[in-house]
Amino acid sequence: MSLKKYRFDGTKKLDLKKMPTDSRKDGADKEEILEKTKRNQEEIAELQERLYADGREGLIILLQAMDAAGKDSTVKHVLSGINPQGIDVYSFKSPSGEELAHDFLWRIHKCVPARGKISLFNRSQYEDVLVVRVHDINRSYHMADRVTGQPDDEFFEKRYRHIRHFEEYLYDNSYRIVKIFLNVSKEEQKKRFLERIDKPEKNWKFSSGDLDERDLWDKYQKAYEDAVNATATKEAPWYVLPADQKWYTRYLVSEAVLDALRKIDPQYPEMPADEKEKLAACRERLMSE
Ligand code: ATP
Ligand code: MG
Repeated sequence: MSLKKYRFDGTKKLDLKKMPTDSRKDGADKEEILEKTKRNQEEIAELQERLYADGREGLIILLQAMDAAGKDSTVKHVLSGINPQGIDVYSFKSPSGEELAHDFLWRIHKCVPARGKISLFNRSQYEDVLVVRVHDINRSYHMADRVTGQPDDEFFEKRYRHIRHFEEYLYDNSYRIVKIFLNVSKEEQKKRFLERIDKPEKNWKFSSGDLDERDLWDKYQKAYEDAVNATATKEAPWYVLPADQKWYTRYLVSEAVLDALRKIDPQYPEMPADEKEKLAACRERLMSE
């Protein structure tokens, strides 16, 4: 049940084929896990209050996954206890014209939180080495020949490096980043797509284009594996979490978030002694009204 086996911080290589999508092999008891998740949510909410009061570090939680892996519902459940003032959620879709006219980290950097706050990235800078690579979108960029004319390998090696440096830069500026890949199986995705098709209230979540992406499954798996291996570091680790059972995924996500918050160890600021003295006087003043 330990998070460690799902954690990639550059000390071991990810072989995605060997990573479980079905968490039942962990032998966890569902009732117990639901209880633990609830307790984790409470601790996350408490630590988030402290993080805000402390204001020394900022936290980015980043979610990547194939369609229907449960990004949205994970966000909803794991972070539900948090004070909405302390967290912002950003979904990175296909870039707009304005975004495409800038460097790829431009839109990401704008969503880095103020220290003391949390940003949740639903998709992220990694789309630029995932969907872009799978669909060769880089070749159609309106950029100088020296950029678009490079062999793909070189182009993406550079992007991995830019992402590594960006994340290191954030770490050196008092941020932490938790990167999560929800690893769903192709069979489970099919099941969830069918549910989206069959249940009218879920129709809106489905688009026929999702099946075109599904056809490219193997290419995506390779792109994910390469991206994780190129960007997993101690300061910005990846968690490759089994995503076929949502209740267990939520538990693991809550553990990963807690791990980062505990490392930050935020503290309520201590009031200076002279201010504290004033408190006693204020109390007296109120009581004598
Ligand atoms: P949902 O669960 O609601 O489907 P979603 O995150 O899949 O959520 P969509 O609007 O369906 O949201 O998809 C967003 C699309 O934008 C994805 O296909 C994603 O790959 C694409 N996208 C995100 N960033 C980039 C990028 N930098 N370049 C090209 N495409 C991108
Ligand atoms: Mg989608």
